[in-house]
Amino acid sequence: MAIAPSPSIHVTTSAMSNPEDPPRWPAYFRSEDASARHANQALARLQQESLSPVPQNYALWFAYYAQTHLDVVHALDTVSFAQQPITNMLCEDLHQRFLSEAKNNETVRETGARIQATLTGVSGRVDAARAATHQYKEVLQSAARQFGAPGDSESVRSALRTVLDNTSDMLAHNQELEDALAQSSQVMQSLAADLEAVRKQSLTDSLTALCNRKAFDTEIARLARQAQTDGLRYCMVMMDIDHFKVFNDTYGHQVGDDVLRVVGRTLGQGVRSGDMAARYGGEEFAILLPQTELPVALKLANMLRATIEGMSLTRRKSGDKLSRITLSGGVAEMAAGESPDALVARADAALYQAKSRGRNRIEAHANGY
Ligand code: GH3
Ligand code: MG
Ligand code: MG
Repeated sequence: MAIAPSPSIHVTTSAMSNPEDPPRWPAYFRSEDASARHANQALARLQQESLSPVPQNYALWFAYYAQTHLDVVHALDTVSFAQQPITNMLCEDLHQRFLSEAKNNETVRETGARIQATLTGVSGRVDAARAATHQYKEVLQSAARQFGAPGDSESVRSALRTVLDNTSDMLAHNQELEDALAQSSQVMQSLAADLEAVRKQSLTDSLTALCNRKAFDTEIARLARQAQTDGLRYCMVMMDIDHFKVFNDTYGHQVGDDVLRVVGRTLGQGVRSGDMAARYGGEEFAILLPQTELPVALKLANMLRATIEGMSLTRRKSGDKLSRITLSGGVAEMAAGESPDALVARADAALYQAKSRGRNRIEAHANGY
């Protein structure tokens, strides 16, 4: 079956849908002078570190120099002091962890402010309705006094007219209040939907639309807790695209991005509901398989590996065939009392073994060390 997965390449085999929009460039503004200085510093640093001049990298280094996010400053300083290489992958990871989160927090704050404004509007209308009711009560009391006193029929008629006029005013007020409440409830519903969308977005990788690293960390921590209380076992798979640097160098980063989307979609569609396929970072993918034992996990990982190997990719414009994509993978089953970090490390070790044994293969890590 031929499907259109991405703008530049054409894949034959598994199905996929449109990826989400790329993340937007966060805007940080202090004074114009300071902004220009930080912008220059950020661009210079991208050049100095040979980083791609993409918005995420720029935003990260802008945040670093402008000190808008102390987490970013701390993380980048730690890497620099340890004299570790500053790579595109590292920057992407930090951007995803600290800045896309910050963007979401901003949206949450904005939404909170809108909820507050809606509530203030509603309570204003409730106050107005209360005042109108109070006034109506006074009109009724005065009419009652008039009815009680001896007098001519004209004064009774006039009292009745006043009561009728005020009753229709009251009805109008109540209608207004009802409309305002209905409108507010609609606004609140749409705000609740906005918040849910933000929550989902904060757990989704923007390139592949798979779960992101944060969602993976949360889920593996949940599985580890569950294993301790219910004894439910689980496995994880760590997968990495083989020689992806060469692929990028040969066909360009955009085609590389499209391949990441294809691989992400294939893994996402290849796992059962209840499993989680996540983009762990760069060209690495992690899969969590609850209530699964090692031989089953190994079989699934091999099936996914074979699906990717079996795909043939062609350039959409020219029809040129692209080189085959393969994955290596490491599988590990949780050991009793093991921390998520330790399990990830064992899956990583198995992945490393698969790489050193020739790539395009899956290796399992024996339980324990
Ligand atoms: P190996 O088989 O040992 O895994 O080799 P490799 O080339 O895949 O591994 P290496 O770690 O040397 O390079 C990873 C490459 O993945 C380099 C980087 O450009 C690419 N990469 C990481 N993230 C992205 C991304 O978001 N988009 C694209 N197009 N490429 C990416
Ligand atoms: Mg890698
Ligand atoms: Mg790789």
